[in-house]
Amino acid sequence: MSIVKAIWKPMVQRAVTGRARRFRMRRVQPEWPGALRSPGLYLHVPFCKNLCPYCPYNRVEYDEGLFAAYERAVKQEIDLYAPYIGGQPFTSLYIGGGTPTVNWPGLVSILKHLRERLGPMDDICIELHPGNMDAECLSALREAGVTRLSIGVESTSDAILERIGRSHDGRVGPAAVSRAVAMGFASVNADLMFALPGQTLAEWQADVEAVVGLGVDQLSTYPMFSFPYSDLGAAQGIRQVARPAHRTVKAMLDFTDEHCDEKGLPRCAVWSWLRPGRGKFSSITRHHYIGFGPSAASMTGTDFYVNTFDVRAYADTLPAERPVAASMPVNRRIEMAYWLYWRVYELEISQARFRDVFGPDASLDAEFGLLLRPLMLAGLLERTQGGYRVTKPGAYWIHRLQNEYSLSYINHLWGACRREPWPEEVRL
Ligand code: SF4
Repeated sequence: MSIVKAIWKPMVQRAVTGRARRFRMRRVQPEWPGALRSPGLYLHVPFCKNLCPYCPYNRVEYDEGLFAAYERAVKQEIDLYAPYIGGQPFTSLYIGGGTPTVNWPGLVSILKHLRERLGPMDDICIELHPGNMDAECLSALREAGVTRLSIGVESTSDAILERIGRSHDGRVGPAAVSRAVAMGFASVNADLMFALPGQTLAEWQADVEAVVGLGVDQLSTYPMFSFPYSDLGAAQGIRQVARPAHRTVKAMLDFTDEHCDEKGLPRCAVWSWLRPGRGKFSSITRHHYIGFGPSAASMTGTDFYVNTFDVRAYADTLPAERPVAASMPVNRRIEMAYWLYWRVYELEISQARFRDVFGPDASLDAEFGLLLRPLMLAGLLERTQGGYRVTKPGAYWIHRLQNEYSLSYINHLWGACRREPWPEEVRL
């Protein structure tokens, strides 16, 4: 760790979470969740047909036998939770991966089990790989109650897709988006990746214009995350992967902002643009959530924990006990910090919403004034009638800070959990 980072990281952490010491996560069984606040659910399907080398997510190559073991185990995990959380009004279910539809009949069977054991949920959102979503699969998802889709187009350029190791050419993504838009889901989001090795501004502009032109409700853009533990990071030393200069990256984001605005999709988060009136497709911006599947995380208000990443270890542990690999207790202050992180990502920090979650006496200024005021002075935040808003320059810098956050925290946790199924202790 550099000296600068060794100094600023504890300072920022203290201002946000109230503690400078590192967090420790251990393999302990957390408390069973009780009454959760606006809870969401998450399901992780950790299989892909092709393993992209840059991918930071927990996934393994698809294998029919392993998928069968996973399907059996995830239903048993749901059964374990059912007496504690069943019947609550869940705001949403988010299905991520991996490639959730790699075996879509299996997925539909898990969805049926979820509803039977936990009750109905308002919204079901799913991440899709454009190569695994034919018309039959989309119809089955609609029948199973799926409402929102997010399609990983990533790029429309054959050369870029080949360079980053994707298994499809530039026509597959747009064709999949058109198919989904025509089927009348509540919303369709398309993901595009930017700041890719060798990517030019002109290539990026062509991607944005092509995807927005297909009539998507939301566009989300992601930089190539610099996770040292990804296959690419391990092979090349992730800091050495050549990426466009920062001014090019900034120009890419500026173009996206202007083009989306012009086409009626104003910015709704650091990396997303949304058609007004359409609900946002968003993965982890719920306050409390329970995750099922290998590597799924849960935030219950008393604990934050992640399941083992290893699919075989996950399947072998169930149904005897919850397959939790690393857990830490959370207090009110950490919950507040977690809330703030996601509101900053959504660009609006509302005092009223803060009170809704943390009680009538909770005050943003009292809790986070020391952090928010300098950001205002730096022009990254502005005051609004009801709280704070992230400015346009602020959105750019937050995107860079999130990359740093990812390296500091997520990389340690996910790296340790990918190395071994049950790490002794993870320090963040
Ligand atoms: S980027 Fe998507 S398709 Fe590629 S390995 Fe990761 S989860 Fe699978």
